Amino acid sequence: MKLRFDELNLELRHTFRISRSAEDFARNVLVVVEDGGTEGFGEAAPSEYYKQNQKTVLKALGKIAPLLVDKDPFQIEEIVTLLVTQFPNDLSAVAAVDIAVHDLVAKKLRIPLYKLFGLSKENTPKTSFTIGIDSIEKMLAKLKEAAGYPILKLKVGFENDMEAVAAIREQTDAVIRVDANCAWNVEEAIEKIYALSAYNIEFVEQPVAPGDPEALRKVRENVTIPVITDESSVLPEDIPQLYGCVDGINIKLTKCGGLRQALKMIHAAKSAGLKVMLGCMIESSISVTAAAQLSPLVDYADLDGNLLIKNDPFRGVLVENGKLILPDSHGIGVSGNINGS
Ligand code: MG
Repeated sequence: MKLRFDELNLELRHTFRISRSAEDFARNVLVVVEDGGTEGFGEAAPSEYYKQNQKTVLKALGKIAPLLVDKDPFQIEEIVTLLVTQFPNDLSAVAAVDIAVHDLVAKKLRIPLYKLFGLSKENTPKTSFTIGIDSIEKMLAKLKEAAGYPILKLKVGFENDMEAVAAIREQTDAVIRVDANCAWNVEEAIEKIYALSAYNIEFVEQPVAPGDPEALRKVRENVTIPVITDESSVLPEDIPQLYGCVDGINIKLTKCGGLRQALKMIHAAKSAGLKVMLGCMIESSISVTAAAQLSPLVDYADLDGNLLIKNDPFRGVLVENGKLILPDSHGIGVSGNINGS
């Protein structure tokens, strides 16, 4: 297989603010693998929080390319295991290659990727639409843009967050999830989640910092709203220590190293009765559609990264009344200007 890659710079519709950061651009990387005239596409969406960025991804891909030259793309398990082992600090780059190889293999088999996983496209979940942190007025304005989405994810963990949630709940009957992105300590989390229970919240994502499953357990035991992890559930090996501490986990391809790793996480979580959400970073339709191909396996989806950008060069999964609609074309099913816009 031949590997090539290039910058993929995405511009956000609105500044995307969460409890620890704010962004106007997502500096991602587009990956193409080619074998016998067939091309597969992938994308890395690196996050500084996980100590990766566009530069580190490009550098890692430069080292990965020669390792793929003699590889048979159908040996995905072997390829991904090799890359995860050799590039444990570059998992967004590994994810991009994993996605591209899955796309390539499903195209060679002339089937949509979900069929390779033995899934039915009717079983996709509904995705949430994320409203980032802003003034309450601006959050309410964004709520109007989100009118077609029956599930909202509100970023919390700021000074007036409870007022913002109250103001939004007053305007909508949509399902509301909240994500604190590690903003609280245990006591604050219990207090905030208690306050949130007045607003019919589906679940709270990552109330406290990762690295301390007992803190999550303490929060969960003292609140009535389910607790889901994101920053605490990066890799398959993170999951056993979360058993009994939370209600579910959020999996992202770019955190864990791609579809293969995500599949392991889904099964590890489900075997312990944990709910599973598939999420994303700010990503184009390439990696959002790749994640959507696995979504018939999960309980919740937060696959809206492509909806938050202005200049998505690609077209893949669609959203109808919140439901993810998988394409019927072969591979991950993405079309568009692969050579850059
Ligand atoms: Mg999150």
